[in-house]
Amino acid sequence: MIDAHPFRWKHRLPTAAVALTLSLGAVVAPATGAAAAEPTLPSGNTAYRTLADYESDMAELAAQHPTLVKPITLPYKTTSGRTVRGIEISNNVQANDGKPVFVDVGMHHGNEWPSGELTLEFAIDLVENARDPYIADLLDRARVVVVPVVNVDGFVRNRRQNDTNTDMNRNYGLGWLPLSSAGAAPWSEPESRNIAWLLSTRQATVFNTQHTCIQVVLYPPLQLAAGPAQDTPRLHRLASAVAAQYGPTYRALPSAEDYETTGEAIDWAYYATRGLSITSETCPNAGAARTYQTQVLDTYAAHRGAMLEALETTADSAEHAIIEGKAPKDAVLRLTKSFEMYTSPYAQPDGSVRPTSFTTTLSSDLDVVQPNGKFRWAVNPSYRPAPAYQADGVRGNRTGFYTEPWILTCERPDGTVLQTARVNVDLGERVEVDLQQCKRDFHRKDLG
Ligand SMILES: [Zn+2]
Repeated sequence: MIDAHPFRWKHRLPTAAVALTLSLGAVVAPATGAAAAEPTLPSGNTAYRTLADYESDMAELAAQHPTLVKPITLPYKTTSGRTVRGIEISNNVQANDGKPVFVDVGMHHGNEWPSGELTLEFAIDLVENARDPYIADLLDRARVVVVPVVNVDGFVRNRRQNDTNTDMNRNYGLGWLPLSSAGAAPWSEPESRNIAWLLSTRQATVFNTQHTCIQVVLYPPLQLAAGPAQDTPRLHRLASAVAAQYGPTYRALPSAEDYETTGEAIDWAYYATRGLSITSETCPNAGAARTYQTQVLDTYAAHRGAMLEALETTADSAEHAIIEGKAPKDAVLRLTKSFEMYTSPYAQPDGSVRPTSFTTTLSSDLDVVQPNGKFRWAVNPSYRPAPAYQADGVRGNRTGFYTEPWILTCERPDGTVLQTARVNVDLGERVEVDLQQCKRDFHRKDLG
């Protein structure tokens, strides 16, 4: 394997120097020798991982903690044929039981190595501290999905783009424009389709994508012309809480106010799923060196606090919706919806300037595991925010939501659909669905 690894040495600064780096203005007394303890990572690592390190660390976590950690393989291999991997973390992780989900990914940009390190270190932290009462409670109430290296090809070559020279954070379809590195078409890249799959097949209350190197936490929209997102107060609250953990110099703001782009992950993610979608960018203070020490070791404690904010928001029932009821034990419940979304208008091959449409299909499922058939499913609200990007162009400053129910099916494990229901449920709401027909027919031999 080609390894573009510039930091192969075990990197340790003298203790006093570390204490000074850590303090950010706090009083330290290195001369006395009583300096603050060096920051350490949950893994104990002192240097950047290679791709092989990421893969073996995740495999080992899953093997050693099968009730807490489940490996996942994303469906699309990269342009150069590499596999993109992640892990799910929760108490009783193997049960597909409807807990709210926090999706946390790193390294859309392959040269932003701290973003992958911070993402995997947080996962290890949760697993290693799963018996701590505070962490245990969060892992009882929520599921965390971690993909530390989205752009695997870019990472092994230590460059921003993937192997088709596409910027992975310009290729998502909503509002897409043919910018110089946005890819040949919306969703042309396997890496962006992987993340779309991840978010389309789970009910992610919160989605965080980790980057370097600015001190900001960003939320939709990406373009000023789009106008504010419908959930701006909620997005700003989460982004502010995350930014506050990173430190007083970090700002929380709409992405468009930082700089305008199109085709980023958070825009599609929010407008398709209504999950609270943020981009967390970390960077050392101005003038400080950008090293493993400053960007990973010295940043991790703040990152931990930031991600715990995101996880607490995920677990908060005010930030998602609940569908509950009784179904036959061993039934599979599925929630789907399908809708058209649009790029920005751009010059098409036929010479006209118009948007391209694409279909987003959300489909997630839950296994009814309780002997009494009771289930409780934390889902995103059925009311979907209307995006600025429409069939007839950019129509900004929208305030409405589509009244577009979840289609709930109650199925046998073999996929036979026994009942279909339409469910409208708003943020913070709880609705009970009546699945009597499914219960009646579940064990009948003459159906299906
Ligand atoms: Zn980036």
